[in-house]
Amino acid sequence: MDAKQVAHVCERIISFFPRIHHETDPFRVLISTIISQRNRDEVTERVSAKLFGLYPTAKHLAAQEPEALYPALQESGLYRQKSKWIVEIAKRVDEAGGVVPNDLEALCRYPGVGRKTANIVLSVSFGIPALAVDTHVHRISNRIGFVHTKTPEQTEVALTSLLPASLWGDLNGSMVEMGRNVCKPLKPVCSACPVFDDCEWSEKHR
Ligand code: SF4
Repeated sequence: MDAKQVAHVCERIISFFPRIHHETDPFRVLISTIISQRNRDEVTERVSAKLFGLYPTAKHLAAQEPEALYPALQESGLYRQKSKWIVEIAKRVDEAGGVVPNDLEALCRYPGVGRKTANIVLSVSFGIPALAVDTHVHRISNRIGFVHTKTPEQTEVALTSLLPASLWGDLNGSMVEMGRNVCKPLKPVCSACPVFDDCEWSEKHR
């Protein structure tokens, strides 16, 4: 598949699985994305709403001990670890006057923040072209045949060289939707797939 075809199929995926981000505040997007690790969407939304209901800003969170966050976070996987990360990040953001950096390397220096989380913040909150590659983006891109890679990091490099920057920001959210509902990890529902004819996966089935 050449770059033009990859871009065309990605545009169709984005239009079939639109994802609207209601929250764009950088600190909240950062913290919610950390909460989302190993969680379903509905859990992330519930836990984030609970946490920000109690502690609306970085300053409020920075003044807490991690244990104080347990009641709000305990529905989330890894909640003890995430509580520690969130308080530490809140302290650093508060010390910086409440400002979250709009820079990949600076974001990745925060505990619990990898390239995927940093790229989501850059794209959702700052409108900076960034392609967040998680397991859904990695799996779907390899199944369809956009890339032939072993790791999400390799997929990020390969996809960003194939796709125009204008598509990077929307692709993560749309492929997450597609990965949860159609191109599932174990039993993809290929009969409901809008890009069935384009998919090169040898195991696809109607
Ligand atoms: S045809 Fe099946 S394997 Fe291919 S992208 Fe669609 S759901 Fe995934």
